[in-house]
Amino acid sequence: MQPSVGYWQSFVEYAELTDVGLRRANNQDSLATMLAGSEADFFRRGHLFLVADGMGRHAAGELASKIAADTVPLQYFKQPQVPPPLALRQALEEGNRRIFERGRQNPDFAGMGTTTCVLVLLPQGALVGHVGDSRIYRLRRNHLEQLTFDHSVVWEMQAAAKSNNVQPPANIPKNYITRSLGHDAAVKVDLEGPFPLESGDTFLLCSDGLSGQVEDDEIAAILSCVEPTEAAQALVDLANLRGGPDNITVIVARVRDAARVQNALPPAAGGSLLGRVSMPVWVAVGASLLLSSFAFMAAQAALGTAAAGAAIVALAVAGWQILTSGSPGKWKPRALGRGPHTRTELRLGDVELDKFRGTVTKLRESAAHQSWTVDFEKGDRLLAEAAVLRKSGDAAGTLRNYCRTLSHLMRQIRKQRRDVGREPVLDD
Ligand code: CA
Repeated sequence: MQPSVGYWQSFVEYAELTDVGLRRANNQDSLATMLAGSEADFFRRGHLFLVADGMGRHAAGELASKIAADTVPLQYFKQPQVPPPLALRQALEEGNRRIFERGRQNPDFAGMGTTTCVLVLLPQGALVGHVGDSRIYRLRRNHLEQLTFDHSVVWEMQAAAKSNNVQPPANIPKNYITRSLGHDAAVKVDLEGPFPLESGDTFLLCSDGLSGQVEDDEIAAILSCVEPTEAAQALVDLANLRGGPDNITVIVARVRDAARVQNALPPAAGGSLLGRVSMPVWVAVGASLLLSSFAFMAAQAALGTAAAGAAIVALAVAGWQILTSGSPGKWKPRALGRGPHTRTELRLGDVELDKFRGTVTKLRESAAHQSWTVDFEKGDRLLAEAAVLRKSGDAAGTLRNYCRTLSHLMRQIRKQRRDVGREPVLDD
């Protein structure tokens, strides 16, 4: 049975969110999502998700991350004939070139750069390309794994020393990155994967405004319990609750039905050569061969030769169509990179739930103590429901309610902050 139209679009569910945070005047992060426009495109290119975190004086950081978010997806999709890993590398290199050129042309933008992490979901697996310290994680069942390697001084030193106990000298900021798009004329791009997909795999792309404030075990817990839209909001809220010192950007993408796209691949890829040549060309080949045969049998040599010539031309067109049809069958996936680079076990026990509950109740107390105008009724109802769920042993449901309470309170507190200019920070 043929899959229904659009299954290749709906096999992934995603949410994206970018937030200026609480301390910065501008948002220098950018994000992009580009879904394949057709089934054939999906098999050749997949769906693309990107997060970029710009750096530079004044508006330069914003511009650098925006150029990356505009350039990389378009360049990647523009080359359907090129195997996905190579196209992804070339797209990131093109992004680097454009940012670097722009920085050279205008002194205001000199030295600007941006991190960029890209996730491509293909039937063959999840392909990752990245530069800098924006991260891509994958939650699969009970483990959260970081698929990207941070191009930061800390990570590079620890990798060189083969020890996690090494720290950079005090005069080097912890978030100092060793590679970015646009800073130099050339850039080294890291590729990872493709990691074969499983239903339920949940990917998170994020800038360091998130990963600097929210621990891996908290990320794992949130991704495991709530849908992508609520998870994206809860992650941003938690980072803001911890002070929101930096811009925060997240994309959460969950694979619903991996088997469906994997099973659909061989026929849709045009696995047979016959399927990759259009029908009018086959008709032209057949008709000219037939005509040629009949003509020679009827001793019409001139007509026979002309028809044979037409058959050769039609066969040449068929060959050209096979060569340029960009069949993913020509792409032989091989393992790239050394990821996953970290692995954190998902735990939803009393310790973890108590920690989340403590965070939420502390926020509620702060709001009450500082006389913020907040709809406590709804928040308290959510907390009461959480208590019932917890008593019944539903850890995921409990955490889901804590996340909803957090997002409910933060939404109102931030609105108030805009109204009266007060900061939603916790009491010490
Ligand atoms: Ca940042």
